[in-house]
Amino acid sequence: MIDFKALAKQYGTPLYVYDFDYMSAQYTQLKEAFRGRKSIIAYAVKANSNLSVVQHFAKMGSGADCVSIGEVRRAFLAGIPAYKIIFSGVGKNDDEIREAIEKDILYINVESEAELQRVEAIAKELGKVSRISIRVNPNIDPQTHPYISTGLHDNKFGVDLLSAKRMYIQANNSEYLDPVGIHFHIGSQLTQLQPIREAAEIVADLIRSLQAIDIELKFFDIGGGLGIKYDDEVTIEPYDYAQAILGTLRALDLTILCEPGRFLTANAGYFLTKVLYEKQNGDKKFVVVDGGMNDLLRPSLYNAYHKIEAITENNGQTREVDIVGPVCESGDFFAKNYPLPALNRNDLLVVHSAGAYGFGMGSNYNTRGRSAEICVEDSKARLIRRRESFEDLICLEQEFLVE
Ligand SMILES: *Cc1c(COP(=O)(O)O)cnc(C)c1O
Repeated sequence: MIDFKALAKQYGTPLYVYDFDYMSAQYTQLKEAFRGRKSIIAYAVKANSNLSVVQHFAKMGSGADCVSIGEVRRAFLAGIPAYKIIFSGVGKNDDEIREAIEKDILYINVESEAELQRVEAIAKELGKVSRISIRVNPNIDPQTHPYISTGLHDNKFGVDLLSAKRMYIQANNSEYLDPVGIHFHIGSQLTQLQPIREAAEIVADLIRSLQAIDIELKFFDIGGGLGIKYDDEVTIEPYDYAQAILGTLRALDLTILCEPGRFLTANAGYFLTKVLYEKQNGDKKFVVVDGGMNDLLRPSLYNAYHKIEAITENNGQTREVDIVGPVCESGDFFAKNYPLPALNRNDLLVVHSAGAYGFGMGSNYNTRGRSAEICVEDSKARLIRRRESFEDLICLEQEFLVE
């Protein structure tokens, strides 16, 4: 058990706490599920891009799935080898593509025909061959939240099957492109196997039709998206996930590439915030805390549910309260109509499942410095990002003040 009270006392609040041992266990469970096949787990850095988190996965043998050149640089800094780094995303600029090719990463995930032309042109300029994979949009409804659904034609991601085939032929004929992989990622927080199986089946069929014209791929990149329990969701077991995917490949001999983010980090993370006040407006009760939407945006952005635990001496009856932050927005809340006992100033609230898409979506809105981040490993805590000071917030502006 992590002693949240002691950590809040030592490091202050608001505070992010990550359980590195939990991250290791999740990584191992997924890796083991693909046992008997060549596989690379490429951690989706955007889920939690703290350098020490990425380094933790690097030490376990993980690769990295990156969606900006900044994330690629983080992956390198954290010690992930080039041959396990992939670069995805719908809007890569020329400088990003150039740097990815120069750094000789595993491959660039191409998301449009226009992007394929850019990658080819830049590889030619550099006199290099760029390994690529193409992101296929299999037009499958993943049955998740529409904001995190990505595998339907009305989402911006990937290309349809016919375009993909045309692009593989073009890449195969190019001196500067080496098509090595195929990629799909239909959404996030997936809790049903059937859409994943259907998407994999469609993509595996495309691989067979490419084989028939002598285009041999090496990597079957199944994206990320494995859902987790925020509340009482029924989730997919890694073993069943792996079996479903492998079942679609049958005789195809490909390395599986898997890009989990949330699965590895979400339930390893806790956001600690302290009670400032309780107040009542009419019938409505509010608990005002010292953390805000600039620290943890998911409730405001997706109306996402996070379990919240109160650490208090009061163990009386619960009543329904809105838990709100200090930011000047009505959307600044962590939960609405949430049952909590009466609270005192300085009682601690522990927001669960905050290890993915938490700190990384944070901002400095309202000139609030972002929280510190710490990790706990082998029962020992250490700082992995210091709290932002006022000086940190103004340092890029101050020199431009006029006399
Ligand atoms: C966001 C993303 C992931 C990770 O998604 P999770 O739901 O966190 O597992 C993996 N691959 C791609 C291409 C992504 O955009």
